[in-house]
Amino acid sequence: MEAVITLLPGDGIGPDVTAAGKQVLESVAARYGHAFDFKEALIGGAAIDTVGDPLPPATVEACEQGDAVLLGAVGGPKWSDPNATIRPEQGLLKLRAVLGVYANIRPVKIYPELAGTSPLRAEILQGVDMIVIRELTGGIYFGKKTRTESSASDLCEYTTTEVERIVRVAAKLAGERRGKLCSVDKANVLETSRLWRDVTDRLMASEFPDIELETLLVDAAAMHLLSRPSEFDVIVTENMFGDILTDEASMLAGSLGMLPSASLGDGSAGLYEPIHGSAPDIAGMGIANPCATIASAALMLRHSLELEAEADALERAIADAIAGGARTADIVADDETPISTDDMTAEVIRCLN
Ligand code: NAD
Repeated sequence: MEAVITLLPGDGIGPDVTAAGKQVLESVAARYGHAFDFKEALIGGAAIDTVGDPLPPATVEACEQGDAVLLGAVGGPKWSDPNATIRPEQGLLKLRAVLGVYANIRPVKIYPELAGTSPLRAEILQGVDMIVIRELTGGIYFGKKTRTESSASDLCEYTTTEVERIVRVAAKLAGERRGKLCSVDKANVLETSRLWRDVTDRLMASEFPDIELETLLVDAAAMHLLSRPSEFDVIVTENMFGDILTDEASMLAGSLGMLPSASLGDGSAGLYEPIHGSAPDIAGMGIANPCATIASAALMLRHSLELEAEADALERAIADAIAGGARTADIVADDETPISTDDMTAEVIRCLN
């Protein structure tokens, strides 16, 4: 097949990991007889520095015209002045909104060989295989913000339609997996959560009666994620809760550097990115773990390009590279020697078959 893939390297380690993702996708294309055309565009701090806009119109155009977007990360100390009116994160938030990608899909899978790098005991991690679905274009991150000298506010809003569409995505996915959905809210305190719960209960009863529905308050969910992670199948939650819970869940896998994400809307075009940020502390050192981005490329193959066999092969290649002992610094054990971003990428490519 032919596909146009927009690459948005962004800031910090973003360029390193997107370069790895591109290399792996080129390798998949060569092996399976596809033609992927890569178009690179600016986002985040790099775009602010070059054209004064974290999401230049040319980037929006490239993303809208392509079949899928692979993004590194945005942000860093250089642009982190809290009083700045133009910030790198605005580029990413706007891009998600422009592309209408309201469903952020974050699989959390444990590589058995990495159980030792998680702060949790290995027996708690056994069998962990969950997907967290985070609502991505609504809630408090997108609500009206106010600020005076002595006070500030952020408005959190959700509509019935926004809740219905994300719960449908999650319930469908649960139906293809173990048939369990956990909806996370804060319905004892927040009105948006009470709407979320009402809509979820009604929709699940009418459209997905066979899916087992569990409802948890976000504080309890944060605890259960660590005490019984293997019992979760699909978790669905609103924007900010999802942001926080998925970083927590990343610790199950041992490192932020292992976890991919896909952001999807109603069309097939999607935005694929590692869940980690720009990691300024290791930027430019050539030691970033590219696996989260490579696994995001696998999600792209599956969800936007409909290349399921290739996606499976790429996920197997990552698992085989890890099983074979390849470790970047973030996942290395005391007695192991870390390898570079480039070497880890080469190892995944070598395992691709
Ligand atoms: P971060 O995810 O960048 O880093 C947290 C820690 O994890 C750091 O110690 C980092 O070195 C490590 N880490 C992250 N990814 C890694 C990888 N691939 N390989 C090895 N180690 C890795 O989070 P942060 O430090 O809170 O944020 C840094 C910047 O990134 C901030 O400007 C923040 O706003 C931005 N950020 C961007 C995104 C995004 O672009 N989607 C997401 C989160 C944070």
